[in-house]
Amino acid sequence: MAQPSKEIHSFSKGSPTPVLIVGAGPAGFMAGATLSLYGIPLRIIDKRPSPIQRGHASGLQPRTAEIFHSLGLPHELARYSNKMTETSFWFRENGELKRSKHSPEKDIFNPTNYPHVNIMHQGHTERIFVEDLSSRGVEVERPVEFVGFETSEHEEFPLNVRLKNLVSAMVEEVPVKHVLGCDGGRSTVRKSLKIESSVHQTSDSWAVAEVFAATNFLDARRRKYEGKGSELTNDKTVIGILTDRAKSLLHPFKIEIKEVESVRMYHIAQRIADCFCDVDDRVFILGDACHAHSPKAGRGMNVRMNDAYDLTWKLALTLRGRAKPSLLQTYQTERQYTTR
Ligand SMILES: Cc1cc2nc3c(=O)[nH]c(=O)nc-3n(C[C@H](O)[C@H](O)[C@H](O)COP(=O)(O)OP(=O)(O)OC[C@H]3O[C@@H](n4cnc5c(N)ncnc54)[C@H](O)[C@@H]3O)c2cc1C
Repeated sequence: MAQPSKEIHSFSKGSPTPVLIVGAGPAGFMAGATLSLYGIPLRIIDKRPSPIQRGHASGLQPRTAEIFHSLGLPHELARYSNKMTETSFWFRENGELKRSKHSPEKDIFNPTNYPHVNIMHQGHTERIFVEDLSSRGVEVERPVEFVGFETSEHEEFPLNVRLKNLVSAMVEEVPVKHVLGCDGGRSTVRKSLKIESSVHQTSDSWAVAEVFAATNFLDARRRKYEGKGSELTNDKTVIGILTDRAKSLLHPFKIEIKEVESVRMYHIAQRIADCFCDVDDRVFILGDACHAHSPKAGRGMNVRMNDAYDLTWKLALTLRGRAKPSLLQTYQTERQYTTR
């Protein structure tokens, strides 16, 4: 496991904060980057001791690349990512492996200046945000946990949030104007608001493994291997099954798994929160905290960052008095729709 980052040292006490972002994943980082670009003072906390180093979500879609551009980060994207311009489809006929077509990663219905998917693991994506936030004086405070909040009579900062420093076990009370719950699928912010979710679950077991593999397969950078099966019981079995599956799919090409970064098993499910904010438009949930998709087609991270961008430009304008607070209500209308 990675060592705790030095970011813990930026933990500061008690002063009122316009926006508190809970969770430094794709949604939290995007929220922080957008708000700080608008000059909105904020704090961002995460209970993990250090950022993700590598792995997890890897495909940044064209619309997300456009957002990076609007935040002034296109060069960083180009520096770390590999551009995937097309996907190859393969099939087996009479025992022979054949490539049926190349399909461009271009959305003909939504023209874009970025007709490709940027392939870059989540460690790099988060590093870009850490550097960007740091350039504007914002550091992620780690390991700090959001515990809960109460409302107060204070006109300007009506939420009293409790944060626990997981090293010192000290609990800090912070008056804030807004809380953005970007704290993932098991969101404590969502639970504090007592928001229920509708879940559509299948009985299929799926597995995703992130591996370093040596292969002579022609389209190694243009394909994803997916494994499926009810016999998925533990990491070792999963890797065995996925390796056998990849070998038989690719034969006569070869593939050898050199290192396993992570293995994840899950049931395919779609979950959507009944509501994305409290009645006063003070506390919002974003990203996996408010909706989850099947990981197929790599929508997770992109949709999460798009949630954050959608909410935070609106929040920035309302905090600066340039838009009516009712603008914030369009966040739920627009983002709930993306899960359907
Ligand atoms: C192996 C794997 C592969 C994936 N591949 C893809 C892909 O190819 N493409 C894609 O788009 N998506 C992919 N995803 C999905 C994607 O990673 C998630 O959808 C995305 O990370 C969700 O972002 P988020 O910011 O909403 O939540 P998270 O990334 O879950 O971040 C939540 C953060 O909140 C913190 N937190 C939680 N509770 C608290 C608390 N009480 N106090 C303080 N901090 C808290 C957590 O420590 C965490 O850092 C993949 C996921 C995995 C695991």
